[in-house]
Amino acid sequence: MNTNVRALSLLAAALLAAVPALVVAQRPEYPITIVPPGKGPFSFPEGYQTPWDRIEIMVTAKMSPNLFVLHGSEGLDPAHPDASGGRAIALFGPDGVLLVDTENRQVADKTLKAIRSFTSAPIKILVNTHIHPDHTGANAFFAQQGAVIFAQNNLRNEMLHPPARANGQPGPAPDPAGVPVAVYDYNAAAPGQPAVTFNMNGETVDFIPMMPSHTAGDTIVRFRKANVIYIEDFYRNFGYPFADQVNGGSIKGMLDAIDLIEKVAGADTTLVPGHGTLIKKSDLRPYRAMLVDVLAKVKTLRDQGKSLKDVVAANLTAPYDKTTLGDTQQSKDRFITEVYDEVRDFPPIVDGKRTMPRHQ
Ligand SMILES: [Zn+2]
Repeated sequence: MNTNVRALSLLAAALLAAVPALVVAQRPEYPITIVPPGKGPFSFPEGYQTPWDRIEIMVTAKMSPNLFVLHGSEGLDPAHPDASGGRAIALFGPDGVLLVDTENRQVADKTLKAIRSFTSAPIKILVNTHIHPDHTGANAFFAQQGAVIFAQNNLRNEMLHPPARANGQPGPAPDPAGVPVAVYDYNAAAPGQPAVTFNMNGETVDFIPMMPSHTAGDTIVRFRKANVIYIEDFYRNFGYPFADQVNGGSIKGMLDAIDLIEKVAGADTTLVPGHGTLIKKSDLRPYRAMLVDVLAKVKTLRDQGKSLKDVVAANLTAPYDKTTLGDTQQSKDRFITEVYDEVRDFPPIVDGKRTMPRHQ
Protein backbone atom coordinates (compact mmCIF):
# COMPACT_ATOMS: atom_id res chain seq x y z
CA MET A 1 0.00 0.00 0.00
CA ASN A 2 1.52 3.39 -0.86
CA THR A 3 1.50 6.18 1.71
CA ASN A 4 -1.25 8.22 0.04
CA VAL A 5 -3.63 5.27 0.05
CA ARG A 6 -2.68 4.48 3.65
CA ALA A 7 -3.33 8.07 4.72
CA LEU A 8 -6.71 8.00 2.99
CA SER A 9 -7.74 4.73 4.59
CA LEU A 10 -6.68 6.01 8.04
CA LEU A 11 -8.76 9.12 7.41
CA ALA A 12 -11.71 6.95 6.34
CA ALA A 13 -11.35 4.81 9.47
CA ALA A 14 -11.25 7.93 11.65
CA LEU A 15 -14.38 9.29 9.94
CA LEU A 16 -16.21 5.99 10.36
CA ALA A 17 -15.25 5.85 14.03
CA ALA A 18 -16.75 9.33 14.51
CA VAL A 19 -20.14 8.24 13.15
CA PRO A 20 -22.60 6.51 15.50
CA ALA A 21 -22.92 2.81 14.77
CA LEU A 22 -26.42 3.02 13.32
CA VAL A 23 -25.68 5.47 10.50
CA VAL A 24 -22.76 3.75 8.76
CA ALA A 25 -23.26 3.10 5.08
CA GLN A 26 -23.40 -0.34 3.54
CA ARG A 27 -20.58 -2.55 4.79
CA PRO A 28 -18.90 -5.07 2.52
CA GLU A 29 -19.97 -8.07 4.61
CA TYR A 30 -23.67 -7.41 3.89
CA PRO A 31 -26.02 -8.95 2.93
CA ILE A 32 -25.55 -11.93 5.22
CA THR A 33 -27.77 -14.89 4.39
CA ILE A 34 -28.47 -16.99 7.48
CA VAL A 35 -31.13 -19.41 6.23
CA PRO A 36 -31.44 -19.71 2.43
CA PRO A 37 -34.86 -20.67 1.00
CA GLY A 38 -35.37 -24.35 0.11
CA LYS A 39 -34.86 -25.55 -3.44
CA GLY A 40 -37.19 -28.55 -3.52
CA PRO A 41 -38.60 -30.34 -5.37
CA PHE A 42 -41.48 -30.39 -2.89
CA SER A 43 -44.66 -32.45 -3.12
CA PHE A 44 -47.73 -32.64 -0.92
CA PRO A 45 -50.38 -35.38 -0.70
CA GLU A 46 -53.92 -34.59 -1.83
CA GLY A 47 -55.96 -32.82 0.82
CA TYR A 48 -52.79 -31.62 2.62
CA GLN A 49 -53.39 -28.63 4.92
CA THR A 50 -50.63 -26.25 6.02
CA PRO A 51 -49.62 -27.13 9.62
CA TRP A 52 -49.25 -23.53 10.81
CA ASP A 53 -48.22 -24.68 14.28
CA ARG A 54 -45.07 -26.25 12.80
CA ILE A 55 -44.03 -23.19 10.78
CA GLU A 56 -41.23 -21.12 12.24
CA ILE A 57 -40.55 -17.47 11.41
CA MET A 58 -36.83 -16.77 11.50
CA VAL A 59 -34.30 -14.04 10.80
CA THR A 60 -33.11 -15.42 7.46
CA ALA A 61 -30.87 -12.54 6.31
CA LYS A 62 -29.22 -9.38 7.64
CA MET A 63 -29.03 -6.50 5.17
CA SER A 64 -27.24 -4.06 7.51
CA PRO A 65 -26.60 -3.90 11.28
CA ASN A 66 -30.24 -2.81 11.85
CA LEU A 67 -32.13 -4.13 8.81
CA PHE A 68 -33.19 -7.78 9.15
CA VAL A 69 -35.21 -10.06 6.87
CA LEU A 70 -37.77 -12.53 8.26
CA HIS A 71 -39.04 -15.61 6.42
CA GLY A 72 -40.72 -18.94 7.25
CA SER A 73 -39.85 -22.64 7.21
CA GLU A 74 -39.42 -24.61 4.00
CA GLY A 75 -41.32 -27.73 2.99
CA LEU A 76 -44.54 -27.11 4.96
CA ASP A 77 -46.67 -24.47 3.19
CA PRO A 78 -47.80 -25.70 -0.27
CA ALA A 79 -48.48 -22.09 -1.37
CA HIS A 80 -44.81 -21.31 -0.72
CA PRO A 81 -42.89 -24.54 -0.15
CA ASP A 82 -39.45 -22.91 -0.56
CA ALA A 83 -40.12 -20.77 2.56
CA SER A 84 -43.53 -20.13 4.09
CA GLY A 85 -44.99 -16.62 3.85
CA GLY A 86 -43.66 -13.63 1.97
CA ARG A 87 -40.46 -12.03 3.22
CA ALA A 88 -40.90 -9.30 5.83
CA ILE A 89 -38.19 -6.73 6.60
CA ALA A 90 -37.68 -4.88 9.88
CA LEU A 91 -35.67 -1.67 10.22
CA PHE A 92 -35.06 -1.11 13.94
CA GLY A 93 -33.41 1.23 16.42
CA PRO A 94 -34.17 4.09 18.81
CA ASP A 95 -36.83 5.58 16.50
CA GLY A 96 -38.89 2.37 16.62
CA VAL A 97 -39.51 -0.41 14.12
CA LEU A 98 -40.47 0.11 10.48
CA LEU A 99 -41.87 -3.14 9.14
CA VAL A 100 -42.34 -4.11 5.48
CA ASP A 101 -45.13 -6.73 5.21
CA THR A 102 -46.32 -9.01 7.97
CA GLU A 103 -46.25 -12.73 7.03
CA ASN A 104 -49.46 -14.78 7.36
CA ARG A 105 -52.12 -14.13 10.01
CA GLN A 106 -51.70 -17.66 11.42
CA VAL A 107 -48.09 -16.99 12.46
CA ALA A 108 -48.48 -13.36 13.64
CA ASP A 109 -47.29 -14.11 17.19
CA LYS A 110 -44.23 -15.96 15.84
CA THR A 111 -43.37 -13.02 13.57
CA LEU A 112 -43.54 -10.67 16.56
CA LYS A 113 -41.42 -13.09 18.61
CA ALA A 114 -38.79 -13.15 15.85
CA ILE A 115 -38.73 -9.32 15.86
CA ARG A 116 -38.45 -9.32 19.66
CA SER A 117 -35.33 -11.52 19.37
CA PHE A 118 -33.40 -8.47 18.14
CA THR A 119 -35.28 -5.36 19.28
CA SER A 120 -37.67 -4.25 22.02
CA ALA A 121 -38.49 -0.98 20.20
CA PRO A 122 -42.17 -0.19 19.51
CA ILE A 123 -43.53 -1.15 16.08
CA LYS A 124 -44.48 2.18 14.54
CA ILE A 125 -44.74 1.94 10.77
CA LEU A 126 -45.97 -0.89 8.54
CA VAL A 127 -46.00 -0.73 4.74
CA ASN A 128 -47.68 -3.36 2.57
CA THR A 129 -46.02 -4.18 -0.75
CA HIS A 130 -49.21 -5.85 -2.06
CA ILE A 131 -52.42 -7.38 -0.75
CA HIS A 132 -51.66 -11.12 -0.67
CA PRO A 133 -52.22 -12.83 2.70
CA ASP A 134 -48.58 -13.90 3.04
CA HIS A 135 -47.74 -10.16 3.03
CA THR A 136 -50.74 -8.52 4.80
CA GLY A 137 -52.22 -11.40 6.82
CA ALA A 138 -51.03 -10.08 10.18
CA ASN A 139 -51.89 -6.41 9.47
CA ALA A 140 -54.56 -6.20 12.18
CA PHE A 141 -52.23 -7.87 14.69
CA PHE A 142 -49.46 -5.33 14.04
CA ALA A 143 -51.91 -2.39 13.98
CA GLN A 144 -52.91 -3.51 17.49
CA GLN A 145 -49.20 -3.33 18.40
CA GLY A 146 -49.37 0.34 17.40
CA ALA A 147 -48.27 0.30 13.75
CA VAL A 148 -49.69 2.84 11.28
CA ILE A 149 -50.27 0.99 7.99
CA PHE A 150 -49.18 2.55 4.67
CA ALA A 151 -50.07 1.26 1.17
CA GLN A 152 -51.28 2.28 -2.26
CA ASN A 153 -54.91 3.43 -2.40
CA ASN A 154 -55.59 0.55 -4.81
CA LEU A 155 -54.51 -1.96 -2.16
CA ARG A 156 -56.93 -0.37 0.31
CA ASN A 157 -59.70 -0.64 -2.32
CA GLU A 158 -58.83 -4.28 -3.03
CA MET A 159 -59.01 -4.99 0.70
CA LEU A 160 -62.26 -3.11 1.37
CA HIS A 161 -64.02 -4.45 -1.74
CA PRO A 162 -62.37 -7.77 -2.57
CA PRO A 163 -62.86 -9.22 -6.06
CA ALA A 164 -65.06 -12.32 -6.35
CA ARG A 165 -63.28 -15.65 -5.80
CA ALA A 166 -62.56 -17.96 -8.75
CA ASN A 167 -65.80 -19.87 -8.00
CA GLY A 168 -67.85 -16.64 -8.31
CA GLN A 169 -68.52 -16.36 -4.56
CA PRO A 170 -67.90 -12.95 -2.95
CA GLY A 171 -64.42 -12.42 -1.50
CA PRO A 172 -63.81 -12.46 2.26
CA ALA A 173 -64.85 -9.42 4.33
CA PRO A 174 -61.79 -7.47 5.55
CA ASP A 175 -60.77 -7.08 9.18
CA PRO A 176 -61.18 -3.28 9.52
CA ALA A 177 -58.23 -3.13 11.95
CA GLY A 178 -55.88 -4.33 9.19
CA VAL A 179 -56.87 -1.88 6.45
CA PRO A 180 -54.13 0.64 5.50
CA VAL A 181 -54.90 4.14 6.77
CA ALA A 182 -52.08 6.15 5.13
CA VAL A 183 -52.52 5.88 1.37
CA TYR A 184 -50.94 7.21 -1.81
CA ASP A 185 -51.25 6.59 -5.55
CA TYR A 186 -48.94 5.58 -8.38
CA ASN A 187 -48.17 8.60 -10.54
CA ALA A 188 -47.67 7.51 -14.16
CA ALA A 189 -46.03 10.88 -14.91
CA ALA A 190 -43.24 10.21 -12.39
CA PRO A 191 -42.42 6.48 -12.14
CA GLY A 192 -39.87 5.74 -9.44
CA GLN A 193 -40.78 8.85 -7.44
CA PRO A 194 -41.15 7.95 -3.72
CA ALA A 195 -44.63 8.64 -2.32
CA VAL A 196 -43.31 8.63 1.25
CA THR A 197 -39.79 8.96 2.67
CA PHE A 198 -38.93 8.10 6.28
CA ASN A 199 -35.75 9.10 8.04
CA MET A 200 -35.48 6.65 10.92
CA ASN A 201 -32.75 4.79 12.77
CA GLY A 202 -30.03 6.27 10.57
CA GLU A 203 -31.71 5.02 7.38
CA THR A 204 -33.58 6.80 4.62
CA VAL A 205 -36.49 4.67 3.47
CA ASP A 206 -38.53 5.32 0.31
CA PHE A 207 -41.96 3.83 -0.37
CA ILE A 208 -42.11 3.79 -4.17
CA PRO A 209 -45.55 3.02 -5.65
CA MET A 210 -45.42 0.76 -8.72
CA MET A 211 -47.45 0.62 -11.92
CA PRO A 212 -50.01 -2.23 -12.01
CA SER A 213 -47.66 -5.24 -12.18
CA HIS A 214 -47.94 -8.06 -9.62
CA THR A 215 -51.19 -6.33 -8.48
CA ALA A 216 -52.54 -2.78 -8.98
CA GLY A 217 -51.45 -1.84 -5.46
CA ASP A 218 -47.73 -2.69 -5.42
CA THR A 219 -45.07 -0.71 -3.55
CA ILE A 220 -41.33 -1.36 -3.54
CA VAL A 221 -39.29 -0.19 -0.54
CA ARG A 222 -35.81 1.25 -0.90
CA PHE A 223 -33.31 1.50 1.99
CA ARG A 224 -30.82 4.01 0.65
CA LYS A 225 -27.92 3.53 3.09
CA ALA A 226 -28.10 -0.27 3.16
CA ASN A 227 -28.39 -0.16 -0.67
CA VAL A 228 -31.32 -2.58 -0.60
CA ILE A 229 -34.67 -2.59 -2.43
CA TYR A 230 -37.52 -4.90 -1.46
CA ILE A 231 -39.01 -5.67 -4.89
CA GLU A 232 -41.89 -7.94 -3.74
CA ASP A 233 -43.46 -10.39 -6.18
CA PHE A 234 -43.37 -9.08 -9.77
CA TYR A 235 -40.13 -11.05 -9.99
CA ARG A 236 -39.75 -14.56 -8.66
CA ASN A 237 -37.17 -17.30 -8.97
CA PHE A 238 -39.22 -20.14 -7.48
CA GLY A 239 -42.12 -21.09 -9.75
CA TYR A 240 -43.25 -19.26 -12.91
CA PRO A 241 -44.24 -15.55 -12.94
CA PHE A 242 -47.57 -14.60 -11.38
CA ALA A 243 -49.56 -11.47 -12.17
CA ASP A 244 -52.68 -11.32 -10.00
CA GLN A 245 -54.95 -9.99 -12.74
CA VAL A 246 -58.18 -9.88 -10.68
CA ASN A 247 -56.33 -7.55 -8.31
CA GLY A 248 -55.21 -5.43 -11.27
CA GLY A 249 -51.91 -7.16 -12.05
CA SER A 250 -50.47 -7.58 -15.55
CA ILE A 251 -47.61 -9.47 -17.17
CA LYS A 252 -46.82 -6.45 -19.37
CA GLY A 253 -46.83 -4.29 -16.23
CA MET A 254 -44.23 -6.66 -14.78
CA LEU A 255 -41.99 -5.78 -17.75
CA ASP A 256 -42.45 -2.08 -16.89
CA ALA A 257 -41.67 -2.83 -13.25
CA ILE A 258 -38.41 -4.59 -14.24
CA ASP A 259 -37.47 -1.63 -16.46
CA LEU A 260 -38.07 0.75 -13.56
CA ILE A 261 -35.77 -1.30 -11.29
CA GLU A 262 -33.13 -1.00 -14.00
CA LYS A 263 -33.30 2.78 -13.37
CA VAL A 264 -33.71 2.99 -9.58
CA ALA A 265 -31.21 0.27 -8.57
CA GLY A 266 -27.43 0.30 -8.87
CA ALA A 267 -25.47 -2.67 -10.20
CA ASP A 268 -24.54 -3.65 -6.62
CA THR A 269 -27.95 -2.94 -5.00
CA THR A 270 -29.31 -6.04 -3.28
CA LEU A 271 -32.85 -6.76 -4.51
CA VAL A 272 -35.06 -8.67 -2.09
CA PRO A 273 -37.92 -10.52 -3.82
CA GLY A 274 -40.92 -11.64 -1.75
CA HIS A 275 -39.88 -15.26 -2.43
CA GLY A 276 -36.81 -17.11 -3.72
CA THR A 277 -33.19 -16.02 -3.42
CA LEU A 278 -31.80 -12.47 -3.08
CA ILE A 279 -30.64 -11.05 -6.42
CA LYS A 280 -28.94 -8.14 -8.23
CA LYS A 281 -30.55 -6.28 -11.12
CA SER A 282 -28.58 -8.25 -13.72
CA ASP A 283 -30.64 -11.29 -12.62
CA LEU A 284 -33.78 -9.54 -13.91
CA ARG A 285 -32.59 -9.72 -17.54
CA PRO A 286 -33.14 -13.44 -18.28
CA TYR A 287 -36.48 -13.24 -16.46
CA ARG A 288 -37.51 -10.28 -18.60
CA ALA A 289 -36.41 -12.09 -21.77
CA MET A 290 -38.54 -15.10 -20.81
CA LEU A 291 -41.62 -12.87 -20.32
CA VAL A 292 -41.08 -11.22 -23.71
CA ASP A 293 -40.56 -14.57 -25.44
CA VAL A 294 -43.65 -16.23 -23.95
CA LEU A 295 -45.84 -13.15 -24.55
CA ALA A 296 -44.87 -13.14 -28.25
CA LYS A 297 -45.39 -16.88 -28.72
CA VAL A 298 -48.77 -16.92 -26.95
CA LYS A 299 -49.91 -13.90 -28.99
CA THR A 300 -48.98 -15.64 -32.24
CA LEU A 301 -50.94 -18.76 -31.28
CA ARG A 302 -53.96 -16.80 -30.06
CA ASP A 303 -53.94 -14.68 -33.24
CA GLN A 304 -54.06 -17.97 -35.18
CA GLY A 305 -57.30 -18.76 -33.32
CA LYS A 306 -55.85 -21.37 -30.95
CA SER A 307 -57.86 -22.12 -27.79
CA LEU A 308 -56.44 -21.75 -24.28
CA LYS A 309 -56.22 -25.56 -24.10
CA ASP A 310 -54.13 -25.67 -27.30
CA VAL A 311 -51.83 -22.90 -26.07
CA VAL A 312 -51.29 -24.61 -22.70
CA ALA A 313 -50.59 -27.90 -24.53
CA ALA A 314 -47.92 -26.17 -26.67
CA ASN A 315 -45.63 -26.31 -23.58
CA LEU A 316 -44.06 -22.90 -24.29
CA THR A 317 -42.20 -22.86 -20.98
CA ALA A 318 -40.17 -25.99 -21.90
CA PRO A 319 -36.92 -24.06 -22.63
CA TYR A 320 -37.07 -22.57 -19.10
CA ASP A 321 -38.02 -25.60 -17.01
CA LYS A 322 -34.43 -26.64 -16.29
CA THR A 323 -33.50 -23.26 -14.85
CA THR A 324 -36.81 -22.52 -13.05
CA LEU A 325 -36.97 -23.98 -9.55
CA GLY A 326 -40.46 -25.03 -8.45
CA ASP A 327 -41.64 -25.44 -12.06
CA THR A 328 -44.86 -27.30 -11.24
CA GLN A 329 -47.52 -27.92 -13.89
CA GLN A 330 -49.89 -25.69 -11.92
CA SER A 331 -47.36 -22.83 -11.92
CA LYS A 332 -46.77 -23.18 -15.70
CA ASP A 333 -50.47 -23.42 -16.58
CA ARG A 334 -51.32 -20.39 -14.47
CA PHE A 335 -48.60 -18.34 -16.18
CA ILE A 336 -49.65 -19.34 -19.71
CA THR A 337 -53.35 -18.73 -18.91
CA GLU A 338 -52.53 -15.22 -17.71
CA VAL A 339 -50.55 -14.42 -20.83
CA TYR A 340 -53.38 -15.82 -23.00
CA ASP A 341 -55.91 -13.58 -21.22
CA GLU A 342 -53.67 -10.57 -21.53
CA VAL A 343 -52.78 -10.60 -25.24
CA ARG A 344 -56.38 -9.93 -26.33
CA ASP A 345 -59.48 -8.26 -24.77
CA PHE A 346 -57.69 -7.61 -21.46
CA PRO A 347 -60.19 -5.98 -19.05
CA PRO A 348 -59.35 -2.51 -17.64
CA ILE A 349 -58.63 -1.79 -13.96
CA VAL A 350 -61.55 -0.40 -11.94
CA ASP A 351 -60.84 0.45 -8.27
CA GLY A 352 -57.68 -1.66 -8.34
CA LYS A 353 -59.39 -4.75 -9.83
CA ARG A 354 -60.20 -6.40 -13.18
CA THR A 355 -63.17 -8.61 -14.04
CA MET A 356 -61.39 -11.53 -15.70
CA PRO A 357 -62.99 -14.13 -18.00
CA ARG A 358 -63.70 -17.50 -16.34
CA HIS A 359 -62.17 -20.59 -17.91
CA GLN A 360 -63.69 -24.04 -17.55
ZN1 LIG B 1 -45.69 -13.06 -1.98
